[in-house]
Amino acid sequence: MIENWARRYFPYPEFRTHQIKAIEFIFKVFLNGRIGLLSSPCGTGKSVSVLTAYLMAREVEDIGKLFILTRTKNELEIYARELQAIADNSKAFLRATLIISRQEMCPLVKEGRFAAERMDYRSFLAYCSRLKKASKGSSCPYYSRVFKDWRPSKEATAFLEETCVNRVLMPEEFYEEAISHGMCPYELTRLAAADSDVIIGNYNHFLIEEARRSIFARSRMQMDSVNIVFDEAHSLPSAAMGLLSDEVSTRTVSRAKKETVKYGVDDRGFLKLFKSFMEGLGKKAMKLVGIGENHVLSREESSLTNFLRLSENSVFEILDFLREESDKIVLLKMESGKPPVSYIARIVDFVERWVSEDYEDTVKYARVDEDHGKKVFRLGISSMDVSKTTRSLNKVRSVLLMSGTLWDFDYYRDVLGLDERRITTLSLPSPFKRENRLIIVDKSVTTKYELREEMVYKISDRLNRIIDSINGRIAIYFPSYELMEKVSSRLKTDTPMIKEDTKIRVRQVLKFLTENDKCITLGVARGKISEGVDLTSEGLSLLSAVIIVGLPYPKRNEMHEALLKYYDKKFGDKAFEYASTAPCIVALAQMAGRLIRSQNDRGIIIIMDSRVYGKIRKKLPQDWQEDMEAYLKIENLVRDVNRFFQSNQRVK
Ligand code: SF4
Repeated sequence: MIENWARRYFPYPEFRTHQIKAIEFIFKVFLNGRIGLLSSPCGTGKSVSVLTAYLMAREVEDIGKLFILTRTKNELEIYARELQAIADNSKAFLRATLIISRQEMCPLVKEGRFAAERMDYRSFLAYCSRLKKASKGSSCPYYSRVFKDWRPSKEATAFLEETCVNRVLMPEEFYEEAISHGMCPYELTRLAAADSDVIIGNYNHFLIEEARRSIFARSRMQMDSVNIVFDEAHSLPSAAMGLLSDEVSTRTVSRAKKETVKYGVDDRGFLKLFKSFMEGLGKKAMKLVGIGENHVLSREESSLTNFLRLSENSVFEILDFLREESDKIVLLKMESGKPPVSYIARIVDFVERWVSEDYEDTVKYARVDEDHGKKVFRLGISSMDVSKTTRSLNKVRSVLLMSGTLWDFDYYRDVLGLDERRITTLSLPSPFKRENRLIIVDKSVTTKYELREEMVYKISDRLNRIIDSINGRIAIYFPSYELMEKVSSRLKTDTPMIKEDTKIRVRQVLKFLTENDKCITLGVARGKISEGVDLTSEGLSLLSAVIIVGLPYPKRNEMHEALLKYYDKKFGDKAFEYASTAPCIVALAQMAGRLIRSQNDRGIIIIMDSRVYGKIRKKLPQDWQEDMEAYLKIENLVRDVNRFFQSNQRVK
């Protein structure tokens, strides 16, 4: 019955394997107002399933709008294409608005009217807001064509009627259309959202409270009447954690100091003292943990008020004064056509948080980096309680968290602070043939003691043998850059190789892979080429093998110790699992997931770490547990790799 019903909207002739189960699950989540956790591997057609299920649930009752949150623009565009396919096929047109960031959609940025790259997002918002208010004579021409006396202009209304009916525009298309009418694309998308059934944005549009409020207000959405989907939700904990962190360097303080001189601001010596506070803590960090590592500060160490011998009120008085001065500086800069950035404001924001946040879940740290031979001192603040940003999901009408690798539902429930009573879960197996991939575990090595030289030699030797036996493209992933360097320097192969570094671009790697039939990419766990990238060409995976050297446990350092301590209080005996094992499994699944992207792909996953057979194994999907083959002798491993590629049969 569900199948026939779904066919009314589903735009393709055939459902994919397990797709009907996914549609039914999502339909029930939407209809019954649940929090659904869906693990649905690559190839099950999750995006179109969400839209089909939403249309079905709307038939039963008015369930409100659908707000889909993606991590990348690419993912956002997949939804746009599926919406158009549904409209073309079933005539069920859902009005949809695709929202990308204001900065990306601002024509003034594209025209180079100010240096957006030198402006953080918050400063940009303040700048835009000032232009909209037309303060001090400056105004935004694109904005004033969208609104007249704070109401949508006739041109804007006509534009939306003409452009958004029966068509789902990609962000670029919408941008071009809006610009050709001289109107601000971002403000137009916000207007369009008010009449849309489906709004598609990125994680920040929900996780950042100010952004959420603004979008909800414009789109006429209420928390208790909206249905939210987080796509690729395995990355939700780390994305939320990132939003709770902030860092400043002594370079920013120096720039702020220069600003005080240039604009005649008497900071009463505050910036100089703050800089010496940073340097003092940095020197201590360097001594204790070395360059490039965070040293977690105790409450006493991190107390700026003690260092300054001032009360909290006195510090806030100074900060208030500096904030007023920085506002004036921004206006002056705007008037003279300069980037409206104030470094003083940046320092004020950070110090305010540093002084006022003293919670159990907050960690403050100092670090020293080296840049072109010069030392840069940094202070950072981070919250370890991810649920601060995600527990508001409990107020939402229905929520769907989905990913191909949402393997440990308890972890997401607890860490994100989701209401257990509303949770429902579904885990689907891979739709692809199991015989198309071989999962090998090399049990003779481990990176548990990664710094031991003999283990590095052993891993390199075995890798050399494995690489020789694979006539195709291989992605090799390491738990750290350090280990990648050590092992790669011992690889003896003429095969072309590309190595991930902080500057590498995904398109560079894709070009390299398409130009070389036999080659190697070296990357790190949680890096640019191990997660959320499609290493494919025309829908087919470019890889023949993924080799994971060592389990990607988070690095054991002071930050991790602080997290373990906090989780110990919060989650008791689950502390290690949530702080270490779960993130390790997410990274492992993501790296392995680069291999098979379609039903015609075939290849080998090799995990070089005996610890897979410990706690990790029980957390892996059933098909993985059944298919994993352990090897001790490299001869046997290489023999079976050869057999796999020579035959179309699964090797036992
Ligand atoms: S209103 Fe639009 S065009 Fe004007 S500054 Fe803001 S984002 Fe840019």
